[in-house]
Parts: sequence; C-alpha cells; structure tokens
Amino acid sequence: MASGELILLIWNDLVGLSRTRGVPVSQYERRMDHGLGWALAGQSLTPFEDIAPNPWGPLDEVRQTPDDSTRRRVEFFDGLPPLHMVLCNSMNTDGTPWECCTRSFMQQALDDLEAETGLSLHIAYENEFLLSGEGMEWAAPFSIDSIRRVAPFADLCTSALLAADVGLETFEPEYGVGQYEVSCGPAVGISGADRVVITREVIREAARQCDIQASFSPKPAPEAVGNGCHLHLSLWDKNHRPVGFDPDGPGQMGPIAAQFVAGVHRHLAALTAIAAPSPVSYLRLGPHHWSCGYDAVGVQNREAAIRICPSPDKNPETRGNAFNIEIRSTDATASPYLAIGAMIRAGLEGIRGKLPAPTMIDEDPADMTDARRAELGINELPGSLGAALDAFHADTVATGWFTPTMVEAYTAVKRLEAATYEASTPEHMCERYGHAY
Ligand code: GLU
Ligand code: MG
Repeated sequence: MASGELILLIWNDLVGLSRTRGVPVSQYERRMDHGLGWALAGQSLTPFEDIAPNPWGPLDEVRQTPDDSTRRRVEFFDGLPPLHMVLCNSMNTDGTPWECCTRSFMQQALDDLEAETGLSLHIAYENEFLLSGEGMEWAAPFSIDSIRRVAPFADLCTSALLAADVGLETFEPEYGVGQYEVSCGPAVGISGADRVVITREVIREAARQCDIQASFSPKPAPEAVGNGCHLHLSLWDKNHRPVGFDPDGPGQMGPIAAQFVAGVHRHLAALTAIAAPSPVSYLRLGPHHWSCGYDAVGVQNREAAIRICPSPDKNPETRGNAFNIEIRSTDATASPYLAIGAMIRAGLEGIRGKLPAPTMIDEDPADMTDARRAELGINELPGSLGAALDAFHADTVATGWFTPTMVEAYTAVKRLEAATYEASTPEHMCERYGHAY
C-alpha cells in the first residue's frame, strides 16, 4: 500500500489565514511545477464561511505553487502522521505571480528595496498566544508555575519548533492567564515571514496533540490580555553589515534607518488597516496595554507604535548587529507577508523622500495632554477597522503600493468583516476570532 502521508500545500491569504490543500507524498514531485488550482474568489474568503463581493466571481483560478525551500516535515509522536507542509506562491497560469498573492507582494517589495538601496531586511517576529483547555487556571504572570503546568506542551512545542528550523530563541510565559510567547531569531527577507507561518502552525499542532487550543487572536476574550505580534526589522548592506545603527543619530539610528522609520511613521494610520486588520484588533490596540494607541516613536518605549531597540552589545565593532526597529501594532490577524511588505513600501517612501527622523518620545503618550501630543505631532491610531480602512483609502500613496484589484478585493473582505461584527457583542466576536486564529 502507498504511504498515506500528505504534504500540505499552504498559502497565507488576504485575511492572514493559512489555507491548504493536501497531496499524497508520492504525487508531490509532479505538483512542484504547476501546483494546485484554486479559484480566485477563494482569496475573498473572510476568516469564516463568507466570500466577500470580489472582482472575479466564479471565473478563473491561480496555481498554488510550492516553494520547495520552505518545506518542513515535523514529527511529533511515534505513530502520529508528521506535519508535512510547504509554502506556496499563487501564480497565474502563465507562470507570473498573481497580483493578489501575499507572498509575492512581499517579495516584490524586498526586491524593490534591494534594487533601489542595495539593502536587505532582517526580520524577526514575536508570537504571543493564549492556551485554553485543561490546566489553564490562574497562575502568576511570568511564573514558573504557569510554564510547568504546560510542561508536556512546552517540551513538545520546543522539539517541534527546533525540528522545523525556525530559529527558535525563547519559549516563555507571558503576562496573561494562559498566555505564552515564542520568539524566533531574525531571518533574511521572505524567510522572515515564512517562519511566522510555519511557527504558528507548529504551535497549533503541538497544542492539538496535547488536547489544548492555541489562539493567536489579538483578543481571545474581552477580559483577556491582548496577543501582539511585534515585528522587528533591521537593514543590512550587501557586505552583510548592519546599516541601521549610528550612536550619534536620532534614537541611535543611522540616516537610512531614520528615513525608513520616518516613512513607516508617516503612513502608520493607513498601515493599521493591514497590520491590525480585524474588528477584534481594536479591542487590543489602545493605551496602557503595551500594544500602543498612538503613532509615537521612541527608544525602548513600549507604549510607542515604533520602538527603537538599542543593542545590548558594548563592543563597538559588533554593536550594530542587534540594533533593530520594532513595530508593535501588528497582530496575528494580519498576513505577515502583507504587513511586512507594506512596512517595506512605507519605509522605501521614507528613503526616497529622505524624510527626517520623527521626534523621539520618551513618555507614555496616553499620559500627555491633547495640547502636548499635538505639539509633538502624536496622533491617535485608528480606533476601529472601519476607521483604519478609511485612513488607508485616504492615503493614496499607500493604496498605490497595491494593484487596484488588490485594493478592491482587500477592502471588500475587510469591510464585510467590519459589518458582520458591528452589532455583535465583544464576547461573540472574540470567541469567533479566537477560534479562527
Ligand atoms: N501583549 C502585548 C501586546 O498586545 C505586548 C506585551 C509585551 O510587550 O510583550 O502587544
Ligand atoms: Mg510579549
């Protein structure tokens, strides 16, 4: 009998969910060139069972085509079928990338960054999540108790993440009840986002095998602590040297990093529609949760949307290696490809326009008066998905990073999500998104 093992062909869509179709291992080879067909309208699925109005209707399909370099085969227990998966690009039948392929969108942004500046991007993501199920009663935040009560899960998850080669650095308890965090080291370019997709699926599988559930939703319950996905970026030159750090620059940023940050800062309201793109995202974003409610930039400021992370290294030769910029508004309902791709586009605008560094804020913006915030140029981030989409559409530079078809499809699916949950209770909305993500 042929092996029943499946390889899951995975693509991460406009709503940041990893969708899949499986093929028998024995047939993978012949799927490598042209992948599997997928109806275009499938890109307009909400996280639930609805398909938003879309430009395609019942016509046409893309080929979900594996990038074999991303393939991972992770064994969990003896006798349990391994999690065997490969990430795909959505290609037109003529072999060009589909305009609504999230992975190709990010790759194109990376290519443009490199073509125009000679720079590459090192990317690391933090993954906060909540576990629910047996044994998730109250434990002190960050306590040994909270990690030891899930020791079998933590151990299984760690082994699986090491096997998946995602650069696992830490597995730790977080502030909330049942909340944990997995951090991975930086990876270059597209693999920085691939890692996020793989890491989440491995964590979910480890939880599943331990009869608990992992949710990365930004707010799994109205009273729960929010889950963020802070995004860390640094710019490197062709000789593998970091260019972001300058001890004498604003916030210790070199000129290029300062321009990049200024670009992201300028477009932050529009970027919120991509980086915090669900109705439930706005139960998380806000002051006094370390998740940011204002578009401030500051050194080591956890209430700023953009935190400059200085290097702990004292050696002047290597000090710039760990220096990076953290974007804190991002959550797991965003496609990492879309969120990072859009951040690159915004940063590139800053570099092109040689924008000056934003003012460095070393206080909690929520504690300032309106007048003081206005004086420092600090604005509130959009307070709802609808407001974020309005800000996106008002920023024609930002909409210009996408093709008109992509803007139309993305807006329609996000407006449908906003409308669906407009009148619902926070409990219901949190429950639905908690299951989906
Ligand atoms: N949970 C917080 C958030 O939603 C972040 C806490 C931290 O800084 O680790 O972003
Ligand atoms: Mg954290």
